[in-house]
Amino acid sequence: MKYYSLTDNNNTASFSEAVIRGLAPDRGLYFPESTPRLDESFLADIATKSMVEIGVEVMRPFVGGTIPEVRLEKIVTDTLCFDFPVNKINDNTATLELFHGPTMAFKDVGARFMARCIGYFNEQSPKKVTVLVATSGDTGGAVASGFLGIEGTEVIILYPKGKVSHIQELQLTTNGNNIKAVEVDGVFDDCQEMVKSAFIDEDLKGKLNLTSANSINVARWLPQSLYFFFAYQQFQRMGIDKKLAFSVPSGNFGNICAGIVAKRLGLPISHFIASTNSNDTVPRYLQTQDYQPNPSKQTISNAMDVGNPSNFIRIQSLYGNDFDALKQDFSSYAYNDVETKLALAELHQKHNYVADPHGAVGYLGLQHFLANNPDHYGVFLETAHPIKFRDTVEETLGLTLEIPTQIQHILDKTPEKTSLSGYDAFKDYLLSQAV
Ligand SMILES: *Cc1c(COP(=O)(O)O)cnc(C)c1O
Repeated sequence: MKYYSLTDNNNTASFSEAVIRGLAPDRGLYFPESTPRLDESFLADIATKSMVEIGVEVMRPFVGGTIPEVRLEKIVTDTLCFDFPVNKINDNTATLELFHGPTMAFKDVGARFMARCIGYFNEQSPKKVTVLVATSGDTGGAVASGFLGIEGTEVIILYPKGKVSHIQELQLTTNGNNIKAVEVDGVFDDCQEMVKSAFIDEDLKGKLNLTSANSINVARWLPQSLYFFFAYQQFQRMGIDKKLAFSVPSGNFGNICAGIVAKRLGLPISHFIASTNSNDTVPRYLQTQDYQPNPSKQTISNAMDVGNPSNFIRIQSLYGNDFDALKQDFSSYAYNDVETKLALAELHQKHNYVADPHGAVGYLGLQHFLANNPDHYGVFLETAHPIKFRDTVEETLGLTLEIPTQIQHILDKTPEKTSLSGYDAFKDYLLSQAV
């Protein structure tokens, strides 16, 4: 399997090249040249398969021979070290919980898979890889945990000072080993800008082998299609045979795009709902056919505060840039913070389910779709554990959340971080790491 750049289709790469580069040299996103359908018998027997069997079968063509089968199996096994349970909400609705991993957000799967792929490629040509990642909260923690102790890698996380939650900051700053945290005097966009500047800085070329762990990386993006298979497997076991609709709380639209890939591979998914907060660029686009990105707005579901979703171009490519074809399979609705809090309360009061604000947005989008399409069975993705948005959830529901063990063990650790301001200071910091 080759990957081509969405900026210039003539720029191609193998899986390993695409993973190590992150972006194509022309700054385009890499895209797989095909999405080969899985064997019918594989899907027919999916209820009997293990998660690792599913993982290897789905990822094999994308890895395209750049990782030997035995090693791929080990990478998938290490990646899938937790469960993805489906939880029934009512007769035609369920949630798929993606937050049982080490940092309690769905990004654990992509980060763990990518880290282990880089670890393998690095054994083949030993040259320390420096992974840069800018985070507004969840990504950094998942990447830190995913790369912790991976031979030949060093991770530098940039986060905006005072703009991540206490728990998120602890997840970024208490890892030690090959993980370093840099607190930037500024906002998320400043962190992102510093990462971009480092990538094009000629003075750093040759001194550092830089890569990015943001969701544009194919090794972070593609394994997310596995969740949809795990959900389908559970629906098979539960005997649910209605048409399936998935509502995905969306920010950069990587997760939902991976779901559409799963459909291309043969998974019978009837409809996708991209549920967003007030950052409504895609819902507006579906109404007007005019793509007008806005600056990002701050909301209580902050992992989706994205004004110009980078993966939407991949979704359009999957539909051959055909607007009508896209609309057949794909809807998108936006909700503000007041609506999100009401949904949190409704889920709790009516269904005895404690969601997080992102999951609540997913629930709202799903309710809207099911009201017009009652022949479907609907699933919304719960992308983070409510504890990660503790203040909002506790205040809205008037309860105290129990602290899960994954979070408990970091609470009494001491944060270690470097504080700096401006690109020049960051560059000096990077050069000091290049030994
Ligand atoms: C990253 C994230 C999202 C958005 O996922 P995309 O793939 O960027 O659309 C949603 N919810 C949570 C909790 C996240 O961390």
